[in-house]
Amino acid sequence: MNRLALIGLLMMLSLQSALAAYLDGFAAEKISAHAYVIHGPLELPNETNEGFMNNPAFVVTDDGVVVIDPGSSVHTGKMLLREIAKVTDKPVIAVFDTHIHGDHWLGNDAIHRAYPDATIYAHDKTISMIDDGEGQSWLDLMHSMTKGATAGTKVVNANQALNGGEDLTIGGHPFQIIHRGQAHTRTDIMILHKPDNVLFTGDNVSNKRLIRLVDASFKGSIETIEVAKRLKPSVVVPGHGKTGGTELLDQYQTYLSTLYQNVSQLFEENLSDYEMKPLIHNKLTTFHDWSGYDDELGKHISGAYLEIEADAF
Ligand SMILES: [Zn+2]
Repeated sequence: MNRLALIGLLMMLSLQSALAAYLDGFAAEKISAHAYVIHGPLELPNETNEGFMNNPAFVVTDDGVVVIDPGSSVHTGKMLLREIAKVTDKPVIAVFDTHIHGDHWLGNDAIHRAYPDATIYAHDKTISMIDDGEGQSWLDLMHSMTKGATAGTKVVNANQALNGGEDLTIGGHPFQIIHRGQAHTRTDIMILHKPDNVLFTGDNVSNKRLIRLVDASFKGSIETIEVAKRLKPSVVVPGHGKTGGTELLDQYQTYLSTLYQNVSQLFEENLSDYEMKPLIHNKLTTFHDWSGYDDELGKHISGAYLEIEADAF
């Protein structure tokens, strides 16, 4: 082997071990009698975090393991399988993908390779959007944001469509599926694990991080969280940020409704979204330290403005 090839090989090996080391640093936390969550970092996808930023979770049922949102890449999915193996030797029998955003479902690939018979559930619209090219777009976006760290990941779509309102029994455990139209996206499902009364909200709820809301309805998000509150869950697992109780529902709903109500009022007063920003910033003091706040606030105001403008005609 010549010197250049050797240097190249060493660089590749050190990159791979650096990536492996990063994902090695995460462990699943037990959040109820049967459920576990790996809490991802409150960051955007980058080369170091390998796109990992969500909350992959799993529930151990009588007959096998049910996964929720296996993460951003085949590597994140493998990390999840490693954490599952520390808890149980039961197979993965089902996966829920909460919505179309690839940081939540690209890890399907790892689960499917290890357990090809596992049923992968997602909203009907998630499945059709992945088939229509969104799957490849998310794969490409993750690859470029992480400078190739997600390489090796393939698009594996869900194979069982949901529309919301379903009551499923998986591995002897009842699960309730909730979808109330456009909220964080048009594709969201929330999953209630009834035995432990744990609600997996997907990105309909976020904790200490402001997330992208480019596909969202502000009004729909506020209403969907109202539905979540009526379920009175004991434990709430958000799409991003630490697990908690119903205070997470109140907190994120307060952010969305404060923003939406103020944009509505200032819209009536004929202010532009740009003029609104400092006024609304002053009403959101409890959220100033949230990750992503500086990047997202202006975009959220613009999004709410467009929604209110469309509703006004
Ligand atoms: Zn999302």
